Amino acid sequence: MAQIAFIGLGNMGGPMAANLVKAGHAVTGFDLSPSSCAEAKAAGLSIAASAVAAVSAADVIVTMLPAGKHVRSVWAEIAPKAKAGALIIDSSTIDVESARAVHAVASAAGLKPVDAPVSGGTGGAKGATLTFMVGGEADAFAAAKPILEQMGKKVVHCGGAGAGQAAKICNNMILGISMIGVGEAFALAEKLGLSHQALFDVASTSSGQCWSLTTYCPVPGPVPTSPANNGYKPGFAAELMLKDLKLSQEAAAAVGASTPLGAAAAQLYALFNGAGHGGTDFSGIIEMLRGQKA
Ligand code: NAD
Repeated sequence: MAQIAFIGLGNMGGPMAANLVKAGHAVTGFDLSPSSCAEAKAAGLSIAASAVAAVSAADVIVTMLPAGKHVRSVWAEIAPKAKAGALIIDSSTIDVESARAVHAVASAAGLKPVDAPVSGGTGGAKGATLTFMVGGEADAFAAAKPILEQMGKKVVHCGGAGAGQAAKICNNMILGISMIGVGEAFALAEKLGLSHQALFDVASTSSGQCWSLTTYCPVPGPVPTSPANNGYKPGFAAELMLKDLKLSQEAAAAVGASTPLGAAAAQLYALFNGAGHGGTDFSGIIEMLRGQKA
């Protein structure tokens, strides 16, 4: 059993922290939102009055915050006050530059940092089935792995500082592009008089096969569990897809990588979000591609 501090108890952090309590750890949480704190308390966490108070006795610190600016500010505040040698894990999805900057802040304070963003969404957070993509030194990864395994089912060491965030944005750039590709193909098939099931049966066993088709099919019917069967209720909201695509484009600009389809996907999701569909599952973009949604 470890003393764990968990900062950021929102849609993802709340259930992740609850899984650490279930695994037998003593978890002290902090969030700016009183309602998130109340839910976490009901799940068995102790609630601290501040982030610094939460981390003071912790062997392990986890942060799950909205974006890079929040992680930079919280890590700058807590790193000097944490126990020497504590493991500090950021599971938020943030820009690679911020991830590397906070690694440096934590290392200078004598802590062991890892970036460990997740895929799997709120369902994975609740069910402890997340995939963690981890960046950091080998000893920090070795210390983080058993903790992360209590919140997820797969933990991959991707490399040094920031490598977890790099893997996350590259993966989600593939996802955004592939969902648009699958959506365009179904929209074309409809105009050609081809049934959804016929395209699915062919493409899912042919070279068009991909996760966006076989697990998350954007039309109702072929994959009964996909959000298309449930009015495009997320799932993975379009606003989060846009956030990740923007991070991929910032990273591409910073290193001079050419990602024309990633840029186009970011623009299409910006249009979809701008038209008020940010809360829709990202597979709902097929409706805009058909011209049904502005
Ligand atoms: P959320 O908005 O539900 O939770 C973030 C929490 O951080 C909020 O409760 C907020 O009050 C708290 N917070 C903000 N600033 C703080 C501070 N200074 N100190 C303490 N608490 C603070 O967001 P979420 O859906 O839980 O996402 C968290 C991260 O996980 C994001 O980076 C997101 O991109 C990533 N992510 C989300 C999903 C998903 O499906 N929701 C999937 C994968 C990754």
